[in-house]
Amino acid sequence: MITKAISVPYLNLGLQHKNIKADILRSIEAILDNGQFILGEETQRFEKSFAEIAGTKYALGVANGTDALFLSLMALGIGKGDEVITAPNSFLASASSIAIAGATPVFADVLSDFNLDPEKVEKAITPKTKAIIAVHLTGRPAPLDELKAIATKHNLHLIEDCAQAVGATYKGKPVGSYGTTGCFSLHPLKNLAACGDGGVITTNDEKIYKHLLLARNHGLKNRDECSFWSFNSRLDNLQAAILNVKLNELSAWTSRRREIAGLYQAGLKGLDLIVPADKDYERAVYHTFIIQSSKRDALKQYLADCNIDTKVHYPVAIHQQEAAQYLGYKKGDFPVTEHQTNSILSLPIFPELTNEQVNYVAASIRNFFKVLK
Ligand SMILES: *Cc1c(COP(=O)(O)O)cnc(C)c1O
Repeated sequence: MITKAISVPYLNLGLQHKNIKADILRSIEAILDNGQFILGEETQRFEKSFAEIAGTKYALGVANGTDALFLSLMALGIGKGDEVITAPNSFLASASSIAIAGATPVFADVLSDFNLDPEKVEKAITPKTKAIIAVHLTGRPAPLDELKAIATKHNLHLIEDCAQAVGATYKGKPVGSYGTTGCFSLHPLKNLAACGDGGVITTNDEKIYKHLLLARNHGLKNRDECSFWSFNSRLDNLQAAILNVKLNELSAWTSRRREIAGLYQAGLKGLDLIVPADKDYERAVYHTFIIQSSKRDALKQYLADCNIDTKVHYPVAIHQQEAAQYLGYKKGDFPVTEHQTNSILSLPIFPELTNEQVNYVAASIRNFFKVLK
């Protein structure tokens, strides 16, 4: 074991606010003074900036990322009797949003990089299929060209679950601009985070945008007139004000995440591991940095002994959740996902990590394999 002098937490959210705390407090104070708590100017400003990041005509703040998915499905008229294909290795909301909309989640297995396997997606299509929810898991864009071609060929909607991928690009264009809608989460653990819950829907479709404007706000078309029953799923103006401060930092934070990924990639070369790698046509934003090892549990314990905190995203695949039992899937249905469940390990990756900490993680992993021999 190497020196215990350094410790590496999986995450330290407090550090994120260190340099911007004064600006955040000022923006909160302004809202306290002007009383614009719901759908105020800060929300509009945030939506405008966010549409630029996603390269779309429209962006709409909502209460969280799950609502972004759910409201998108509702806006497309997807519900009872319909099927929507998504990945079984995602955070469970990629599938629960489908079920909550009244439709049936159908899973397709993934590739080594954790994103949907287009061949498996096409095989899962039935006459009931209405949409594909492509998840850009870990902040790496899913194979959008292939998935979009399949969606077009079978007359399906492509919805992007961009919860982990704000700012990622695929063939030069941002994620969130490929699908009918892009669904983002602003949960405190995501790359761009509110101080609480939040979400965004992006789209280029004016009709869908106009529908969603009402759908997130009780179906109200003005103060007094309701067009259809709907939800209250708005992004708080207070959160938008905080996010407007954080937006100034996002590109530097993303660059730092990619820098850390580069240090890991260099430091872990030649080991008996699968390490995330960039394709030349994509810019991943490394929400997580997930390595794959057949000795995952021993490695996790070894790193814990070195004061390095790691996580597993996610230890139980969605089709193996109790909530999904009624769908009738069984062990062995998604071999790649199930194999990954036992081999994946998320290393600490957040902008405030020092190079010393990152190099210590890499050195400790190298040491683990040396000790094994
Ligand atoms: C976080 C996350 C969500 C849900 O976002 P919330 O804001 O927590 O509702 C959906 N999909 C993926 C892939 C996520 O990581």
